[in-house]
Amino acid sequence: MIYQHVLVAVDFTEECHPVIQRAQTLARACNARLSLVHVVEPMAMAFGGDVPMDLSMLQQQQFEQARERLNTFSGQYPELAADQRHLAYGQPRQEIHRLAEEQQCDLIVVGSHGRHGLALLLGSTANDLLHGAPCDVLAVRLKKAD
Ligand code: AMP
Repeated sequence: MIYQHVLVAVDFTEECHPVIQRAQTLARACNARLSLVHVVEPMAMAFGGDVPMDLSMLQQQQFEQARERLNTFSGQYPELAADQRHLAYGQPRQEIHRLAEEQQCDLIVVGSHGRHGLALLLGSTANDLLHGAPCDVLAVRLKKAD
């Protein structure tokens, strides 16, 4: 077996579906386990980390909404059992690397892009994930990047 545990990272955009499908195909071909992760990014990070107000209530709501989205989203992939869906909170690179290590994943699958508009200026998660990755990383090239 080439890979034993594949971790696919999703941002809940429509473009995630081909990324999950690629991860599923690979996992099936290797007879590997498949897990999925979404990372909720702290609101303060979006504002450069310096916000003069208490965001804890908003962040709690943000996390709960993300949990609902994760459940709805993963419902489209019945082979992903509840213990194969993960929600993390923090910086995507750090959290995805941490989870990959914790779950002993040997491949992370990610989309080559996903962000739109202004968020594009923040850079590529796929690129970021390569640095210091605890295992192989596959960036699935998405057609809209052309
Ligand atoms: P981006 O570089 O933000 O355009 O995103 C590229 C890819 O990184 C997406 O297609 C997802 O696979 C993954 N990704 C981006 N943001 C997140 C996130 N918050 N949680 C998990 N995966 C993410």
